[in-house]
Amino acid sequence: MHDLTDLYQSVILDHNRRPRNYQVLPTANRVGSGNNPLCGDEITVYVQLEGDRIADISFQGSGCAISQASASLMTLNLKGQTVAEAEAITGNVIKLITTGDVKDDELSDLSALAGVHQFPARIKCATLSWHAALNAAKGDAQLITTEKGSD
Ligand code: ZN
Repeated sequence: MHDLTDLYQSVILDHNRRPRNYQVLPTANRVGSGNNPLCGDEITVYVQLEGDRIADISFQGSGCAISQASASLMTLNLKGQTVAEAEAITGNVIKLITTGDVKDDELSDLSALAGVHQFPARIKCATLSWHAALNAAKGDAQLITTEKGSD
């Protein structure tokens, strides 16, 4: 687990300092938002949906390092995917975050999120943006709040 801890710290730090795709997307035709009152995290996800494909995706928000870094990783991993693919990826990521179960030979920046498993109170911080992105992509505009147990 030593490698994962190092990966977790470096990736979360890097993405929190330099969040990728952090902007309002001018071409967005879907928006999803979520908040995690327990921690004070707020995320708005902008999606440019073309047919059933996420042509572009961005986010803005505020909150803890885990919530912002996870959102940054989310944009990198969902861009270009179909909604169905995005749902599958999100399912895998949420499993990764909640179980911490990652194979050593499949380590990627995304695997760093498995490190959140060590901090159960932060799991909702990490899953927030993924739920918001799916909500946006699926055209469901309702506000996600983790207080309703939407994970
Ligand atoms: Zn948080």
